Amino acid sequence: MTPKVRVRFAPSPTGPLHIGGVRTALYNYLFAKKNNGDFILRIEDTDQNRYVPGAEQYIIEAIEWLGIPFDEGVGYGGEVGPYRQSERKSMYKQYADQLLSTGWAYYAFDTSEALSKLRKEYESQKRTFIYNHENRMQLSNSLSLSKAEVESKLAKGDKYVVRFKMPVEELHFHDEIRGSIKVNTGLLDDKILFKSDGMPTYHLANIVDDHLMKITHVIRGEEWLPSLALHIMLYRAFGWQPPKFAHLPLIMKPVGKGKLSKRDGDKMGFPVFPLQWTDPKTKAISAGYREDGYFPDAVINMLALLGWNQGEGTQQEIYSLADLVQAFSLERVNKSGSKFNPQKTKWFNQQYLQTKHNDLLAEKFSRIIYEKTGREFSKQYVIKTVGLLKERATFVADMWDAGHYFFQPPQTYAAKAVKKQWKDQTPSLMTELIDVLSNLEDFQAVEVGSAVKQWIVSKEVGFGKVMAPLRLCLVGSLQGPDVFEIASSIGKEDTITRIQQALATISK
Ligand code: GLU
Repeated sequence: MTPKVRVRFAPSPTGPLHIGGVRTALYNYLFAKKNNGDFILRIEDTDQNRYVPGAEQYIIEAIEWLGIPFDEGVGYGGEVGPYRQSERKSMYKQYADQLLSTGWAYYAFDTSEALSKLRKEYESQKRTFIYNHENRMQLSNSLSLSKAEVESKLAKGDKYVVRFKMPVEELHFHDEIRGSIKVNTGLLDDKILFKSDGMPTYHLANIVDDHLMKITHVIRGEEWLPSLALHIMLYRAFGWQPPKFAHLPLIMKPVGKGKLSKRDGDKMGFPVFPLQWTDPKTKAISAGYREDGYFPDAVINMLALLGWNQGEGTQQEIYSLADLVQAFSLERVNKSGSKFNPQKTKWFNQQYLQTKHNDLLAEKFSRIIYEKTGREFSKQYVIKTVGLLKERATFVADMWDAGHYFFQPPQTYAAKAVKKQWKDQTPSLMTELIDVLSNLEDFQAVEVGSAVKQWIVSKEVGFGKVMAPLRLCLVGSLQGPDVFEIASSIGKEDTITRIQQALATISK
């Protein structure tokens, strides 16, 4: 029987989750769900120096907002917890001890001063110092020192680290995305696994936890590919079956070369974080997709296609989460990095906005209207305006820019339009128009339209002579949907007041 698929997202709580990390979480989620597996959150906080308060909560909130919740992990519980490495601290020593006793690891007592001196010496000869098979016998460790010396150092409480004794060979292994890989392990260093303060390093904790948590597939960012040979070796050293590995390509800058950074976002005006983040130290605020008005499903859709596609010949771009789960496979993840495209991200949001129910949009829009005007409008009214405005909107907030006049009289009148459309005869026409409108019982758009048009025909003036100034009175500019729709929406009283207000303001 093949074991149940179990994947983990294993962030270190060192700050807000970058959009690349979100994509890693998403691909893990999709892979898990596609294979009826479990999606686990493990917090890798062994490096307490880099711990940032609030980061863990941020990660959980972001994943919840995106709608790809974990099955197990910090904040979710589960059988193989605790899921925070700092709470698993006592578990790791026995594994370091196991490798020490089987000869796969050794104690190293070299002080950091001694090592940095060596580094400098190597540098002066244009070489790079790495602690490995070439020099380990000349350094201060349990391989070079006598048993008695080692024991006395340990008994004295000298500081030590446990290093992995990297064997020298041509190591062949497989990555689900990159295919077969070969590494000359003789070029690698003897990595530190454990420190005398009782803390494991990332490498040891990561492998031990993946094993104990029965992880079947490790799906993570490409920056971990250089560690893979060591990880494969560690599985061998423990005598454990390694999981399958998949290293995801980087998300690249929209322009130029290199990895997408926060600076690119700041420069070009798009968020690189799912949620807004306030730096606990500097209090600097970084933009988030949520606060900028993106829909979580649009962000998911965009990220899914940033590095994955369903196959040649598929034109499909809009995928629900369920579609993605169905269609996703690691085989179709790109090998090379994908350029982040801020315009395309907006396009996705616009596409999703069009399919959202007007009720839901109205709910969000009402909040903006309230912020701007301090007034609450009936749900029905807001839903109606959403219906008129959504077509051209990418974000809910765009509907305010395009349709503020549904909720408040114009604050200004577009100067160019006034110059062109507000003629000498306009005030008298508008004054007469007020009479026409006042006499209407029914203020539905159609009725208003036909009454006004009839009157225009009877006056023998051009339509534009009335319609353009009327629009200016109601909207403040020449934009917007059908002017009779606008008049009918704001109602008879407001329509008349706005014409009066324009007469008073513009004609001055
Ligand atoms: N803690 C590592 C990180 O923050 C996890 C790497 C892995 O998934 O193995 O990226």
